[in-house]
Amino acid sequence: MNPQDLAALRRLLPGDVLTAEADLAAYSYDAAPRRVRPEAVVLARCAEDVRQTVLFCRQRRLPYIARGAGTNLSGGCAAVRGGVVLSLARMNRILQVDTAAGFAVVEPGAINLRLQDELEKTGHYYAPDPASFRVSTIGGNIAENAGGPRCLKYGVTTNHVLALEAVMPDGSIERFSAEDPGCEIMSLLVGSEGTLGIVTQARVRILPLPALVHTVLAGFPSVESAVECVCAIIAAGIVPRALEAMDRATVESVEAYMRAGYPATEAVLIIEMDGSEEQVVREAQIVERLAREHGAAEVRSATAAGERDRLWEGRRGAYAACARLAPNVLVEDGVVPRDRLPEVVRRIREISARHGVKPALLFHAGDGNIHPNMPYDERDSSQTARVRAAGQEMLRACVELGGSLSGEHGIGTEKREAMRWLHAPRALKLFRDLKGSFDPEDLANPGKIIPDEAPADFAAPAVRALSAHGARLAEKVRQCAREGRPMAVRGSGSRWQAAPPGCEELLTTGMSGVLDWDKGNYTITVEAGIAARSLALELASQGFHARLLDGAGTLGGILATKPWTGLRDDVLGLRLLLADGEIVDLGGKVVKNVAGYDIPRLVLGSWGTLGIIMDVTLRLHSLPQAAVRASAPRPFRAGPWQKQVKAAFDPRNLLNPWFFGEPS
Ligand SMILES: Cc1cc2nc3c(=O)[nH]c(=O)nc-3n(C[C@H](O)[C@H](O)[C@H](O)COP(=O)(O)OP(=O)(O)OC[C@H]3O[C@@H](n4cnc5c(N)ncnc54)[C@H](O)[C@@H]3O)c2cc1C
Repeated sequence: MNPQDLAALRRLLPGDVLTAEADLAAYSYDAAPRRVRPEAVVLARCAEDVRQTVLFCRQRRLPYIARGAGTNLSGGCAAVRGGVVLSLARMNRILQVDTAAGFAVVEPGAINLRLQDELEKTGHYYAPDPASFRVSTIGGNIAENAGGPRCLKYGVTTNHVLALEAVMPDGSIERFSAEDPGCEIMSLLVGSEGTLGIVTQARVRILPLPALVHTVLAGFPSVESAVECVCAIIAAGIVPRALEAMDRATVESVEAYMRAGYPATEAVLIIEMDGSEEQVVREAQIVERLAREHGAAEVRSATAAGERDRLWEGRRGAYAACARLAPNVLVEDGVVPRDRLPEVVRRIREISARHGVKPALLFHAGDGNIHPNMPYDERDSSQTARVRAAGQEMLRACVELGGSLSGEHGIGTEKREAMRWLHAPRALKLFRDLKGSFDPEDLANPGKIIPDEAPADFAAPAVRALSAHGARLAEKVRQCAREGRPMAVRGSGSRWQAAPPGCEELLTTGMSGVLDWDKGNYTITVEAGIAARSLALELASQGFHARLLDGAGTLGGILATKPWTGLRDDVLGLRLLLADGEIVDLGGKVVKNVAGYDIPRLVLGSWGTLGIIMDVTLRLHSLPQAAVRASAPRPFRAGPWQKQVKAAFDPRNLLNPWFFGEPS
């Protein structure tokens, strides 16, 4: 930045701009290895400061990078293309707590722990609990879609965000809510790592503290037996609020560091139940029995807060225990379908042996989320290269086993290139188009998440074949696209909007197959033309349940019209047929997945305007789910940011065009 621009920035925000070398050095890194000095740091005090900074940067084509506490592990705060770091840390007020309505309104710089402390005074809590909760901010948690031990039962951050205020790349201040009709921008912003807008306020869900919490700690003779126990607990219809695992290497480092008194076994599980007294007592008995049946020689239990804390102490100190073994630690974050954990652990051990590295494994076992923590010394270039190569191979193994590159730490700069292993080129182009549509000058945290175009010889991931009906539908869409003919997508017609004449009708009802029912992992992938009612019956007949409407219509039609906001909680992935006839697969079979923009949630409620939902992967439950309160489907009038989304997905407005005016 030239001296005139710096002076202008100081005049714009007097006293809130840092440019001293020491300050720039302090803001040159986060918890990932990369260090890059920004040109200036703005300490914002309010949304208007954020807006002014964004407009200032736009006028001068300078990148700007939002920053909370800087604890992210993927390089999200690195100013890789220079520019201004915009710190939200001073915007840390808790503006409202409404226990009756079950929400709190907070500024983005509020520390997660402070919110928890405030809520505890009212007998409530906020469910997302990343291990960094003592320092990380709610804004950073939202931007990374952070998870934590409690997320197994309660979901990750996106499941607890109700509404957001954000400064968008054009400098406008917008409000988005999960209830907005049409494609849903709020969910898109969650997990977008500050690349599509800067969150300046959030309304988050709060929950009453449970009557009883019961913690069980058990030592197992092998990682396999511990994971089998995890699967048995879920199959017994118990969803603990936490199901954490550590391997022997982690336990040994914890014992050397803090003598937590953990059993010296191959794996240790911490299982925590919460709820009513009767339920928790019953569940704890079953869990203890299952642990013993799966070979646990030592099982400890606690319900008093102090005793429970002691059982957790070692798990909480596990990162610090590992960090003291060497000057640096590479923390990887992969995720696989839960029942593939033993396989991924085998692969990680084989990779580690080949590269001569010694990871300590920590996992959120219930979610299939695994963190190999690898101590190393960055001054030793050969060791650094080996650790990095091993980390990349471990992530690749997760992808090969049907998982994802990141369960909770995000992509940032560190996994940007690896995105090519997970996403086909058309999906990456869709991410690029979305980013370009929101932020045409690429100033909001550039150089993150999305890799540059792949070299021509790059072998893209294989794409699953379409069913015969799906293939015919895709061909029809390609033909319409060639001819520029508008199309009307239709399921069973239960929510049908009258299409204007001249639209080619595209019927999804011929696509009703079950493509993959993974009973161990509690997921199902089905074609979207299946009748929701028959799917619910089929699932129930085999002891599985989905939080679906037991109503008329196809699954795809229900998702596309989103008559119930809670639908967003159980959709893990979907396949979309785009307006150009190309297929993209988004999300997957894992319950935690922060590798790229959350397009599955964006598409819910979009009324077929962004693409045709071809198949869907749903999370299943072992117990019947409470009845769903559905509202009448609400067709929408597109707002400005929904138009930007449409421009990225279907620039010629060919799919269900009447929602967006005339086809172009
Ligand atoms: C020891 C340790 C343990 C951890 N444990 C967990 C864990 O259990 N679970 C987990 O999910 N993560 C964990 N993390 C990672 C990290 O703490 C989370 O990603 C956290 O959500 C980041 O919050 P932050 O305030 O530090 O954000 P930052 O690191 O400051 O920023 C993270 C990203 O969000 C963007 N950003 C920040 N604020 C905003 C905003 N207001 N609007 C838009 N974009 C914004 C930034 O540009 C950046 O891309 C851990 C990290 C460490 C060091």
